[in-house]
Amino acid sequence: MKLTKTDFKKYLICPESFWLEKKKPEEFTGGEITDFFKKLIQDGYDVENKVQEMFPSGVFLDDVDDDILVKKTQDELVKKGTIFQATFKSDRGLFLKADVFKFNDESGKWDLYEVKSSSEIKTDLMHNHIKDIAFQKMTLEECGVEIGNCYITHLNRDYVRQGELDLSKLFIFEEVSKRIEEVSEEVKYQVDSALELLKKDDLKITSCNCLYQSAGQRCDCFAQFNPQVPEYSTAHILRGKKLRELIDDNIYDPKDIPEDFALTEPQKIKVQLQKIGRPMIDVSSIRETLEKLEYPLYFLDYETLLKPIPLLDGYNPNSQILFQYSLHVMREKDTPLEEVEHYEYLANDLESSTKGLVKSLSENIGPRGSVLVWYEPFEKTRNIELGKLHPEYEKFFLNVNDRVYDLMKIFKKDYLMPEFKGSASIKKVLPVLVPELSYKELEVQDGTMAMSAWEEMLNTKDKERFEELRKALLKYCELDTWAMVKIFEVINKL
Ligand code: SF4
Repeated sequence: MKLTKTDFKKYLICPESFWLEKKKPEEFTGGEITDFFKKLIQDGYDVENKVQEMFPSGVFLDDVDDDILVKKTQDELVKKGTIFQATFKSDRGLFLKADVFKFNDESGKWDLYEVKSSSEIKTDLMHNHIKDIAFQKMTLEECGVEIGNCYITHLNRDYVRQGELDLSKLFIFEEVSKRIEEVSEEVKYQVDSALELLKKDDLKITSCNCLYQSAGQRCDCFAQFNPQVPEYSTAHILRGKKLRELIDDNIYDPKDIPEDFALTEPQKIKVQLQKIGRPMIDVSSIRETLEKLEYPLYFLDYETLLKPIPLLDGYNPNSQILFQYSLHVMREKDTPLEEVEHYEYLANDLESSTKGLVKSLSENIGPRGSVLVWYEPFEKTRNIELGKLHPEYEKFFLNVNDRVYDLMKIFKKDYLMPEFKGSASIKKVLPVLVPELSYKELEVQDGTMAMSAWEEMLNTKDKERFEELRKALLKYCELDTWAMVKIFEVINKL
């Protein structure tokens, strides 16, 4: 039996799906490794590598065979130095690889460091950094190692890069021994329960706790355990006591919600939409909105690279570097689509990324006209950041923000279709309103893929690949704003 710290974290999130993944992996439908998840893993390694630089005498242990790693660790322990990936397995199967394990000459004990790429210690169910390190401490003690201080090392959100990275300011080492103490009894009990669960060869799972949670909380296994629940269900509209009432009455489909069931106005609209199965469009409200827009109309979209370690001067940890924009411009009302102009910028290197972008954007967005985006907090926040990074353009970006209109708002309130399944995301709206436009054939199909493609573009020495990636990125971002133009055309025709 083997229980790793990752297993333990999965157990804490959901014992049922943990058991299924470990005991019947062939039946487990969750755990898909998405591009975004892969990116998070890589980010984690990058942060760990930087922390290792702060322990220059550290010895990195590496082997594909865990038993060999355990043996190598024992050999290193006698040297009383610093070990990266020190590996331990207790008699009852608790297993861990410690990020940094350092002998403390003063206390004569080993100090444990857990490295996180976040800018704070998290204790929510999905992360729970304290229980994570408490599990490690417990495992080490079971292996007979005396533990001194325990640290969680995370990024300092207030650090702003200027020149070379200052690692001593980039990272915060928080001593958490007391916090571990507070949860240790609970963790002991939970570890015992996880091991007990693993002994079971069969587990009757007919339904799971997330049945009563709002839809966003479910894991990928939900449909497997709850076949009676339709893809778009009452949990997408309601939560808490009201949701529980419906579930207890076996009502999962919004269409089955009784007419006299108490709902708020927005909930009523969502339920009604499913019941009548036809679009609900408030033409006069949309017309009023469109009349307020000022021409020329600028359809704008940004692409960014999110990195835990700041790559450029002026950036904090976990901030976004803007490297690309696409802009479609409709000069006048009823401009034919073939006359809609297109402008774009894609940085060829890291250093000039935002410098070139702000210059290009300021040349292509004029002093008048509405700027249309989809989900305004993203573009508006980037504009504020750009203004701070390039003070000579601050006025320009503040002015752009004053002229931003979020097209998404129309699809939250005035243009509702059952097919959107309660969402106003462009990825849900576009295939319904403009089915001929699709991202499926593109090499880059979403924001995470755009981040990876740009990173690859910056690092490749192969000119052909560089051009391929450049083209793919330009195509993707152009489609984002062209999709807005086409959706705008649909609502404009109303
Ligand atoms: S949906 Fe079910 S299996 Fe998945 S996390 Fe929730 S309770 Fe666990």
